[in-house]
Amino acid sequence: MGWDFETDPDFQAELDWMAAFVREKVEPLDHVLDNPYDVTNPRNIRLVRPLQQQVRDRGLWACHLGPELGGKGFGQVKLALMNEILGRSKFGSVVFGCQAPDTGNAEILAHYGTPEQKDRFLKPLLENEIVSCFSITEPQGGADPTLFTTKAVETDGEWVIDGEKWFASNASCAAFFIVMAVTDPDAPRHERMSMFIIPAGTPGLEIVRDVGHVGEKVPMHAYLRFNGVRVPAGNMLGKRGQAFAVAQTRLGGGRIHHAMRTLGEARKAFEMMCERVVSRQTRDGLLAEKQTVQEKIADSWTELEQFRLLVLRTAWLIDKYQDYRMVRKDIAAVKAAMPRVLHDVASRALHLHGSLGVSHEMPFMDQIAMSYVLGLADGPTEVHKVTVARQILRDVVPSTDLFPAYHIPRLEAEARALVGEV
Ligand SMILES: Cc1cc2nc3c(=O)[nH]c(=O)nc-3n(C[C@H](O)[C@H](O)[C@H](O)COP(=O)(O)OP(=O)(O)OC[C@H]3O[C@@H](n4cnc5c(N)ncnc54)[C@H](O)[C@@H]3O)c2cc1C
Repeated sequence: MGWDFETDPDFQAELDWMAAFVREKVEPLDHVLDNPYDVTNPRNIRLVRPLQQQVRDRGLWACHLGPELGGKGFGQVKLALMNEILGRSKFGSVVFGCQAPDTGNAEILAHYGTPEQKDRFLKPLLENEIVSCFSITEPQGGADPTLFTTKAVETDGEWVIDGEKWFASNASCAAFFIVMAVTDPDAPRHERMSMFIIPAGTPGLEIVRDVGHVGEKVPMHAYLRFNGVRVPAGNMLGKRGQAFAVAQTRLGGGRIHHAMRTLGEARKAFEMMCERVVSRQTRDGLLAEKQTVQEKIADSWTELEQFRLLVLRTAWLIDKYQDYRMVRKDIAAVKAAMPRVLHDVASRALHLHGSLGVSHEMPFMDQIAMSYVLGLADGPTEVHKVTVARQILRDVVPSTDLFPAYHIPRLEAEARALVGEV
């Protein structure tokens, strides 16, 4: 019977190395650098590159990749455990070569890219020589992609793209953009759009402005306009009308990694909360001695552990089935549960730090803001809950009777019929 919560000792040694490395070398970068994606910034180059080299030397660079792309082919459970550690620092993923959205973009380039596209875009992306942008959301509709209107029209062997996109992360640093556009307006709803690769600097590609949110040192999400942007036919990524299939390919494993990074962040808040309550005195003792405070500690620990088990079990299911479609419900549940865990743990940590907790001198407000961001980016929580519920209810058999199948009078009658009078 395979039911095991142990990490094998060799891999645990790698995790221990990572934990110390991230704490001692990577976390400090959060306090002196601004944008992990700014790969041409001389300060980033000076401080990030040597750490990336240490990760490569240790054999832990871009571990999400399969061996065919130079990675280790680690399964999702191992990657999840690694990402839990990386979540402690904004620079964690970049230092280990596994930052979103580049990971997902690399995944679809590897899956759907032509040899030319792989050569030009995938190779430098995997080395973090460049970063990329994935842009599908539009100002008039994000959660429902069938509302997107940015269009691409085929003219003289080229595609001409017109329209607007919204909240395109890292656009200002990106060397290329993967963009979803309507190519076949009259096709069935999920076959109307195709994916395109647009190199940065292509004439007509306008960054209207970068939009920021609470917790970000610099605005990183662009409002984009496409004014007759021309790309060659060879810049289509995947087949015509396949944009939804391409987009789906990039999200499965990424959501698990994101969830574990969020757990890492929430655990950081929890550690601060614990330190605070065993340090802060009141008139009649430590905060830690108050039952209402103990309740906050117990609830936080329980929620962290519950969420961790859900994510790791989902990672284990992905490894087992090797088919994201079979784990869709579980992945959606992870995505939907993630914001609340960070929100609740960070809120308690903030509260127990009093005035210091709400100040700019502690990270809790940023963490709480991040919990709201997590409930939106990659689709709002409601949409993922709908996926969970639909998948669960799909196989539930309705009662054909006026009363439910589990109505007690019926159960009693059935029991009597089975065992006779008692
Ligand atoms: C930090 C961050 C980074 C992002 N990065 C990118 C990126 O790189 N590329 C990109 O393309 N997009 C990106 N996005 C956009 C993100 O994908 C969208 O914000 C998300 O899909 C929601 O779309 P919207 O913002 O237009 O909200 P809307 O679609 O307007 O939804 C607003 C609210 O309406 C409710 N709602 C919507 N639909 C339903 C429904 N079916 N059932 C119930 N309630 C519903 C929900 O409460 C939802 O929060 C990013 C967003 C954030 C916050």
